[in-house]
Amino acid sequence: MPPENVLILFSHCLQNSECPQKIIRDLQLCKRCGKCTIKGLLELSERYGVKCVVASGGVMAMEKVKSGSVKGIVAIACEKELKEGIKGIFPKPVVAVPNLRPKGPCKDCQVELAEVERSIKSLLE
Ligand code: SF4
Repeated sequence: MPPENVLILFSHCLQNSECPQKIIRDLQLCKRCGKCTIKGLLELSERYGVKCVVASGGVMAMEKVKSGSVKGIVAIACEKELKEGIKGIFPKPVVAVPNLRPKGPCKDCQVELAEVERSIKSLLE
């Protein structure tokens, strides 16, 4: 599908817990300091021309994907949220990328950027 129809959707737990930027309000407030993987996600979204949004929970995530222009989603969250999200988003295709939780759930989570990139390509090709 064309890049303008692809959306990267990630949970706000990827944000560094000490970062003061209000990225939930506006993702462009990220200063791209590199202390969390959000910098890398923004760079991937620009490289491939796909949209990138953050959600603070399941309801907000559903709001972000319901637009008709969104035809495919790369979703980054924990397995539980991904499972619920895939059901809620159906029939739109979702490539699910589980987050990494080196500090336990919901805090300073990470994601393998190479896997996100592969997922974006799988929707574009
Ligand atoms: S990359 Fe830096 S500025 Fe952006 S959300 Fe992460 S910690 Fe905050």
